[in-house]
Amino acid sequence: MCPPHNYTYSWGPSPTYSAVYVSSQELYQYFKNFRAKHRLEKYIHLQHKVVGATWDGKAWKVQVEEVQTGRLVDAECDILINANGILNNWNWPDIPDLDKFQGKLLHSANWDTTVSLDNKSVGLSSTTHYTPSEKAVFSSSPSTLRALRKLNETSTNCLFGTFVKNSATQHDTRTDLTQQMQSRLNNPQLASAPIPSWSPGCRRLTPGVNYLESLTKPNVQICLGGVRSVTETGVVGPDGAHHDLDVLICAAGFNVSFRPRFPVINEAGTNLQDLWAKDPGCYFGTAVADMPNYILFLGPNCPVGDGPLLPVIETQADYMLKWIDRWQTENNMLFFHPKAAAVD
Ligand SMILES: Cc1cc2nc3c(=O)[nH]c(=O)nc-3n(C[C@H](O)[C@H](O)[C@H](O)COP(=O)(O)OP(=O)(O)OC[C@H]3O[C@@H](n4cnc5c(N)ncnc54)[C@H](O)[C@@H]3O)c2cc1C
Repeated sequence: MCPPHNYTYSWGPSPTYSAVYVSSQELYQYFKNFRAKHRLEKYIHLQHKVVGATWDGKAWKVQVEEVQTGRLVDAECDILINANGILNNWNWPDIPDLDKFQGKLLHSANWDTTVSLDNKSVGLSSTTHYTPSEKAVFSSSPSTLRALRKLNETSTNCLFGTFVKNSATQHDTRTDLTQQMQSRLNNPQLASAPIPSWSPGCRRLTPGVNYLESLTKPNVQICLGGVRSVTETGVVGPDGAHHDLDVLICAAGFNVSFRPRFPVINEAGTNLQDLWAKDPGCYFGTAVADMPNYILFLGPNCPVGDGPLLPVIETQADYMLKWIDRWQTENNMLFFHPKAAAVD
């Protein structure tokens, strides 16, 4: 999670964000406003899914499915840019008998806003809201907004030392985080269980605002050790005890493989899905050996770890545009791809 003032394009700040951390709806609105402002609708085809792409030696032949009708449409392009995202392929977690549950089953990545959680157990988190006068200052004074964004960016970038394995910074951070978590949990029974055994940075730095505090509330019961199985009316915990539930929310379960979602096949018949089944690798997270004119965003080993992804995406887009400019203006180039040695 990053502060929303930094989850914007670098040239498109938004002064209207309501809080230090905002809901997905507010972030979504930023991108919808951005699309409208730059009149991007005409380039976007929603409800269309790319299901296959083959390089025939001269161009990419792409098969696109119209999601609503199932109709397949053939398309062709000189350069194929795959921007299918790395954290949106959600799936149900592998819990025995999950499909047996007769209550409402929700996934955090596919939230059903029509489901009411009134009179049911609800997890609630909160954040610090900006006042109307603060928002007015952000709108009227771009330099103040810029200073806030710079401060956020610097704070995030300063975290980098934390992610260097076995460094003194990582050690100190771990000590500090452990103490903070223990004091916020304030419960000897709970104090050690949610504290990760792995190094800070192996997974996203947590917890979020008020998460630990919510674990200490009287209406929250914590079952450590995972769900053993699911029944029609609830879940069975690791100790065999059954817990009745109206709603079961799965907040885990993503396919985070870098393999493309559809076959990407070069002239020799090599499918990138097979090539990347075990050990995906590419050039600066953007291009693949022997895959002509194929570019991707946020490929394997791309610089994700701390801070917002948008600057990474912007930097990759700038790099891609330089290639494409050369390809368009230097008449002697039919296709481009990195050599295997450059990728290794
Ligand atoms: C819970 C959660 C929290 C996150 N928090 C942060 C955060 O705090 N900061 C941060 O920087 N990032 C965060 N992320 C990561 C977030 O995914 C990225 O920041 C951002 O969305 C990446 O943009 P993108 O365009 O690469 O991918 P996306 O926004 O996922 O867009 C990819 C698009 O491609 C479409 N697509 C996929 N396959 C196909 C296909 N075959 N044909 C056609 N279209 C296709 C998808 O439907 C989607 O619309 C978070 C992700 C999750 C899940």
